[in-house]
Amino acid sequence: MANTANAKRADIGVIGGSGFYSFLNDVTEVHVDTPYGAPSDSLFLGEIGGRRVAFLPRHGRGHHLPPHRINYRANLWALRSVGVRQVLGPCAVGGLRAEYGPGTLLVPDQLVDRTKARAQTYFDGLPLPDGAVPHVVHVSLADPYCPAGRAAALKAARGRAWEAVDGGTLVVVEGPRFSTRAESRWHAAQGWSVVGMTGHPEAALARELELCYTSLTLVTDLDAGAETGEGVSHEEVLRVFAANVDRLRDVLFDAVAALPGMAERECLCAGALGGADTGLRLP
Ligand SMILES: [Zn+2]
Repeated sequence: MANTANAKRADIGVIGGSGFYSFLNDVTEVHVDTPYGAPSDSLFLGEIGGRRVAFLPRHGRGHHLPPHRINYRANLWALRSVGVRQVLGPCAVGGLRAEYGPGTLLVPDQLVDRTKARAQTYFDGLPLPDGAVPHVVHVSLADPYCPAGRAAALKAARGRAWEAVDGGTLVVVEGPRFSTRAESRWHAAQGWSVVGMTGHPEAALARELELCYTSLTLVTDLDAGAETGEGVSHEEVLRVFAANVDRLRDVLFDAVAALPGMAERECLCAGALGGADTGLRLP
């Protein structure tokens, strides 16, 4: 049994549902409040391969939060406040190419934001409850994902005989509706790979907090423009996700074990703010 103080700390965060942590031993539920309001749920802290991990159900337990109502700022802030510096963000996506059919695991290296109405920065100039006023800060998001995290995810997938697609562009739409055929064909014509609803602003906010962030996208369906059938149904998305959750969990756990140690982070993410005074008091 972990001691009480340690039980409330973690190095690594996984933003995903209860299917990922429900059978870990000694899970500690920690409620965290943030200056941005409540995160989607409590954090569930446990240990995998000697690493402390905090799981956060992105949509809340019971999956009651639609993508556009998730408090992304609170979620990332809450993870950082228990010590998390590296985040793995698995999510369900639609494939934009016929070869990315259901069951494809793709670790994107690029991101396109097509969301419309989400708080997507900590640097909005508004005072926080603690009196801090964030400055005007522009972080680089040229490479939105952690190179070390991507390498760990790809290695973990390979080790489980799941040949993940290395790289590609995740386009994030506002939702909760799925794309029209015209939107979907347009996304595909841009050369983008997969479409989801939660990858932004998660990646951008992680960068603003100097967190490493790695997206693992599981294709649950072909998007409307990439197939000739009826288009995407929510039932089909859930069915394919459930069918793959066990092996996705195996990959996530192996990726956790393969991530660099806390003192060994040498990626761009760790120094995203360049030591600047941002006006924020990071937890
Ligand atoms: Zn990193």
